[in-house]
Amino acid sequence: SEPWRDLSAEAHIKIDQLVKVFGETRAVDEVSLGIHRGELFSLLGGSGCGKTTLLRMLAGFVTPDAGSIVIDGQDVSRVPPYERPVNMMFQSYALFPHMTVEDNVAFGLRRDGVEKGEIKRRVGEALELVQLGALARRKPGQLSGGQRQRVALARSIIKRPKVLLLDEPLSALDKKLREATQYELRLIQEQVGITFVMVTHDQEEAMTMSTRIAVMNHGKIVQVGTPSEIYEYPQSRFVADFIGSVNLFEGRLRESFADHAVIESAEAGADLVVSHAAGHLPGAALCVAVRPEKLRLAKAADGLDLPNGLAGRVRDVAYLGDSCVYHVTLESGKVVTATAPNLGRWRDQPFGRDEEVIVGWTAQASILVEP
Ligand code: ATP
Repeated sequence: SEPWRDLSAEAHIKIDQLVKVFGETRAVDEVSLGIHRGELFSLLGGSGCGKTTLLRMLAGFVTPDAGSIVIDGQDVSRVPPYERPVNMMFQSYALFPHMTVEDNVAFGLRRDGVEKGEIKRRVGEALELVQLGALARRKPGQLSGGQRQRVALARSIIKRPKVLLLDEPLSALDKKLREATQYELRLIQEQVGITFVMVTHDQEEAMTMSTRIAVMNHGKIVQVGTPSEIYEYPQSRFVADFIGSVNLFEGRLRESFADHAVIESAEAGADLVVSHAAGHLPGAALCVAVRPEKLRLAKAADGLDLPNGLAGRVRDVAYLGDSCVYHVTLESGKVVTATAPNLGRWRDQPFGRDEEVIVGWTAQASILVEP
């Protein structure tokens, strides 16, 4: 519905050199970051990387030791939570069990003394938006997990914050519902135009929902980009490994040419060809990353006409319905993972256990990253 469109036309977050130390731990270590208006921006990383601490500093629940946060042109670094133009949606949803859906959503507006007619109109709009109009009179105990999550969302945006902070918003839902809700949440976010900043440890969730992702490790942001940038152009071994699955070969740059470069890799048991190694000198330690879906398999006897080709033996095959996952033990002893779409029937799958194969890929499929 249109009234939501212009809500946060100005939201914009600038985080500069932010630091938070707990004892010996640099939970957030000189983080600088810009978040655009209307983005669904994810902070992604493993347990303890500092993503929640960063989110809590945006909310104002944690005071930074150094650095600043500017939201919409206002330095909020020393502003208490309730005076910031942000709202936070918690994992637990924190709904009042004795109140109806309607009253839960209206709570903040009532507390602010908003006029009755206005509350009714805005609650109606918000419930419409999350498709809960029909359940307005129920209590949280009479709702499913997904419905409760939507009530929490309606309540979080009813006061039209410029920024909504979400701490693992879907973690309470089971896998199937979580996947459906990912799309829904993204659609609602687009409709309301509020900037969402979301914490998640689930890389698939971040990929599905986000306009951009910041990958965190040890209190630092290691890469920021759109989901496809992060997947296709990881800058480090850490990011390549954290996002999706990947085969990694350590090696050294042997030689660079105009249109390709050669990496010698004991781990691969052969030289590997990459499309370029710009900025690196011969002898530089590097790592070649290749996604499982970029690997091609052929029977050893047939061979493969690709710049990269390693001989191996199929160790096992897993059937996933839409694809098969092959683990292949290379002559070097390394095991690589290759996925292939299932276009025919399972019984027609071309490679069986113990079969001798060639694993190959193009120069472009090789991603060169820092080791
Ligand atoms: P998780 O996904 O497990 O919640 P996270 O990425 O959100 O992890 P944080 O909660 O931000 O990580 O914690 C970052 C680091 O700071 C961790 O090492 C954590 O133990 C530490 N830490 C966080 N809060 C506190 C605190 N109040 N006191 C002491 N140490 C803390």
